[in-house]
Amino acid sequence: MRSEVEKIEKEALEAAEGASDLEEVKALRARYLGRKGVLTVFLRKIPGLPSEERPEAGRLANQTKEKLEEALKRAARDIEADLAESSRETLDVTLPGRPPAMGRLHPITQTTYAICEIFQRLGFETVEGPDVELDYYNFEALNIPRDHPARDMQDTFYISENTVLRTHTSPIQVRVMESQPPPVCIIAPGKAYRVDSDVSHTPMFHQVEGLMVQEGVSFGDLKGILTTFVHQIFDEETSLRFRPSFFPFTEPSAEVDIRCVICRGKGCRVCSHTGWLEVIGAGMVHPAVFEMVGYDTDRYTGFAFGMGIERIAMLKYGIEDIRKFYENDIRFLRQF
Ligand SMILES: [Zn+2]
Repeated sequence: MRSEVEKIEKEALEAAEGASDLEEVKALRARYLGRKGVLTVFLRKIPGLPSEERPEAGRLANQTKEKLEEALKRAARDIEADLAESSRETLDVTLPGRPPAMGRLHPITQTTYAICEIFQRLGFETVEGPDVELDYYNFEALNIPRDHPARDMQDTFYISENTVLRTHTSPIQVRVMESQPPPVCIIAPGKAYRVDSDVSHTPMFHQVEGLMVQEGVSFGDLKGILTTFVHQIFDEETSLRFRPSFFPFTEPSAEVDIRCVICRGKGCRVCSHTGWLEVIGAGMVHPAVFEMVGYDTDRYTGFAFGMGIERIAMLKYGIEDIRKFYENDIRFLRQF
């Protein structure tokens, strides 16, 4: 009889200890102390015991009942306390909010916007074109013949025999001229691709292309526009120099240098101790290009220019390795 009560007590107390929610506590109470509960049933059996065993049995059973009542109350209290604790954690409205990390524009995007804004103020309209380009627009229509070195497989990413990842933004010029008669006054920013990778080249890079075509446009206009641009993107003190050069799609062509913005012309590592930096390629649109798009070469003249956006950004912010732009190092990007 004694062992029977002890067994009930041990089982019940362990169960109360392990209860994890209020439903479970309620079920335990019913199971042991309810009208048909294990302990209740035991108590009811006491009157049927031999008279000398009854007092002992009654005492033991009542002791167990009290212990169990106590244990179940304690279990319920602990569970309620835990619940209150966890709801406080999720609902503490006094904690300061966690602001989401703010993104910002990539330095290349910022530089692209800055360049386009200057030209927009000068009356240029911003247009875009496809990254995957037909051989015709990338080369043929720009007077780049089949045997030109720019077509070398080592420079160009070919998608198929007649499609390439554009190697420059110049095909946009052709697409615009094909779609409308003069006057044309556009600026075309975008990505360009070449098989190339070192401290000053990445396989994907950005260019801005400019084109102005109408009656009477001269090399002097080109010079004026580019001078205004350089003064606004760098500063008024930055002087320019035009050197004769060659591009298949312009004639005459020029390489435009600016006075080194790092050493102010004294000579430094960035300018290879020349005091000058090559930043823009430009020239008067080649009549062969006008013929390809059906413009009257007797009536219209135009100029075109192009520059690397990474190059401008590197000079503007004093960055020495072009690859930094594309490593996605948040510590680097946060500085802009
Ligand atoms: Zn320098």
